[in-house]
Amino acid sequence: MNNQQNNMDPIDIDGSQGEGGGQILRTALSLSMITGRTVRLTRIRAGRKKPGLLRQHLAAVRAAKDLCSAQVEGDRPGSEALTFTPGPVGHGDYRVVIGTAGSTSLVLQTVLPAMLTAPGPSTIHVFGGTHNPMSPPIEFLQRSFLPLLKRMGAEVSVELIRPGFYPAGGGELRMTAQPCDKLQPLELKHRGGVKRRQIRAVVAGLSESIARREIKEVHRHLEIRDVEVEIVSMKDSISPGNVLQLILESDGVTEVFTAFGQLGVSSEQVARDVCKQAQKYLAADVPVGRFLADQLLLPFAMAGGGRFRTLRPSGHTLTNIQVIERFLPVSFRVEKLGDGMVDLFVEPKGEKS
Ligand code: ATP
Repeated sequence: MNNQQNNMDPIDIDGSQGEGGGQILRTALSLSMITGRTVRLTRIRAGRKKPGLLRQHLAAVRAAKDLCSAQVEGDRPGSEALTFTPGPVGHGDYRVVIGTAGSTSLVLQTVLPAMLTAPGPSTIHVFGGTHNPMSPPIEFLQRSFLPLLKRMGAEVSVELIRPGFYPAGGGELRMTAQPCDKLQPLELKHRGGVKRRQIRAVVAGLSESIARREIKEVHRHLEIRDVEVEIVSMKDSISPGNVLQLILESDGVTEVFTAFGQLGVSSEQVARDVCKQAQKYLAADVPVGRFLADQLLLPFAMAGGGRFRTLRPSGHTLTNIQVIERFLPVSFRVEKLGDGMVDLFVEPKGEKS
């Protein structure tokens, strides 16, 4: 992976394309850093109710700016345009405060690709939400995403320093990444049998009876045997929180399904939500679930090849593909297999197998 000098034309990215969300910004920042290309984003998050840069997105911009001493224009709250001109990717210790329950994991994922291309190891602390609806919870990174990156050659670890639940936040994650010369292509064709099943029910500042009710309902609903059960009571959260996870470990892939306890939603409903996600995944007989699919696109593109079997691509995945193809010499190909399954291929541009 080369962090080329910034001697090429800027890349213009329309932030309203596809689903028009914050992922376009995050992917563009990651790719700007690793290719050394200036990116000019317009109509940022035009597809969202509250368009423009929110604190979580500004934190991602700031983290990216610090890591590669970038010149940035437009990094203001609500801004719908941003120009990001990266310098060489540095390494060392970094710290970013989101200041709300904005997702710490999405900020980490923004800088991770560049940290792999850096000349030395890096550690980053991000302060904000650690368990937010609509972003990867830390357990997903630890159990699902990072082990696959490890198979591709990347040594990255993430630790929960303090939990932060929506809407109060107040959490902290630490990520450490070693440089990696080149990510290796990976093939994830078959799931194989599920070897290990875990139910993990987390409560913070709430009664463990909530966790017990959720676990009982998962048993009732799924009728699974050989399942490990864990109740985690987190003591150091500034606000109450409840997260239920079903973790399925197969030969090549571990998937983590998550549902969040909310006021007005019964523990049984939370349990049924997580069961529904897992059942959909199991019924499809694919190794890679919906969320993991969109998160693997960038590392696979950095590897310059690879393939995985997954569910029909989400709008998020298709949009991410469009952005990645603007920066890297790869093309993505989706081959339909029936029953909602697809094989997703990443190939060097111009090559078709
Ligand atoms: P916004 O414009 O509001 O910032 P966005 O486009 O940045 O939205 P989303 O479309 O909500 O963000 O997607 C965020 C990311 O979080 C996606 O990569 C998705 O795979 C991931 N994600 C969401 N929920 C989960 C989950 N339960 N487990 C793992 N990953 C998740």
